[in-house]
Amino acid sequence: MKSLRDLLVAPSGTKLTDRDPEASPLAPGSKDKTLRGLAKDGAELAALQECLYAEGKGGGTRSVLLVLQGMDASGKDGVVKHVIGQVNPAGVRLTSFGKPTKSELAHDFLWRINRALPPAGYLGIFNRSHYEDVLVVKVHKWAPAREITRRYRAINEWEAGLVTSGTTVVKCLLHMSPEQQRRRLEARLDDPTKHWKWNTDDLDERLLWPDYMAAYQAALDKCSTDVAPWFVVPSDRKWYRNWAIGRLLLETMREMKPQWPDPGLDVPALKARLESDGVR
Ligand code: AMP
Ligand code: MG
Repeated sequence: MKSLRDLLVAPSGTKLTDRDPEASPLAPGSKDKTLRGLAKDGAELAALQECLYAEGKGGGTRSVLLVLQGMDASGKDGVVKHVIGQVNPAGVRLTSFGKPTKSELAHDFLWRINRALPPAGYLGIFNRSHYEDVLVVKVHKWAPAREITRRYRAINEWEAGLVTSGTTVVKCLLHMSPEQQRRRLEARLDDPTKHWKWNTDDLDERLLWPDYMAAYQAALDKCSTDVAPWFVVPSDRKWYRNWAIGRLLLETMREMKPQWPDPGLDVPALKARLESDGVR
C-alpha cells in the first residue's frame, strides 16, 4: 500500500495549483472515523516518541523536526494542539516564529532558527520557520531578490547538514483555499473567545494571496530536496489536516525505528539490593 508520504510529497516541479486543498487521500473515512484514526495513530506516535527520547538519553543523536508553514488560519496552532498534544510534552521542543526582534535581525536569518533546534531524542516543532524569510520577506520585498536567491541555497545546505547530523526533517505546507481562509476569519469574528487571535493585518496579507502562492511555489521549486522534501497537506478540512500530519509523523518515526537504550543493568543484583536494604 502507498504511504501517505508518497501521496503528499511535493518534489521540485510540483505545481501547487495541481493540489486540491479539499482532498483527503488515504483518510480512514469521513470526519468521525478519521478523528478516531488520529487518536489511534497518536497513541502509537506517543510510544515511538518516548522510545526516541529514551534513545537520546542513552546517547543517541537522532531527532525529528516538524516544520509547519501555511497562511493565516491554515491551522498551524490546531496541529500543535490536536496532533502534537497527543505526545508527552517533555520530549517536545516547540518554537513559534514571529516577526524577528531587533537582535535577531542583527544576525543571519538562520541564527534564531539554529537556537531552536530539537536536542537529541526530541521532537522539534517549528510553527512558522526559516521559510518566512523567503515567504513574507519576499512578498513584501523586505530583502533584495539576490538575497532571497542566496537564502534558498543557504536553506538547502543547512537542512542537508541537519539531516546528516541525525535530524529527520518533515516540512508541511498547510494548503488552504482563500475561500476557506475567509470562512475561518469570519468564524473568528463571530466568536468572542477567538477575538484574541484576531489581527487586522491578516486582511492586508490576504490581499497578497497570489504573491504568497508564488512565494510558496518558489519555496517548493527551490527547497523540496531528496533529503528534506516538502509535503503539501490538504488543509481545508481540519480533521483531515490533523490526521494527515499525525500520519506523516507516524510514518517517519516508524521508519526511524527508535531503539530502547540498554544501559546493561545487573537486574538480579539491583533487585537483591533493593530487597535487603531494610527500608520498609
Ligand atoms: P502569528 O503566526 O499569527 O503569530 O504571526 C506571526 C507573524 O510573524 C506573521 O505575520 C509572520 O509573517 C511574521 N513573521 C514570522 N517570521 C518572520 C520573518 N522572518 N520576517 C518577517 N516576518 C515574520
Ligand atoms: Mg496570525
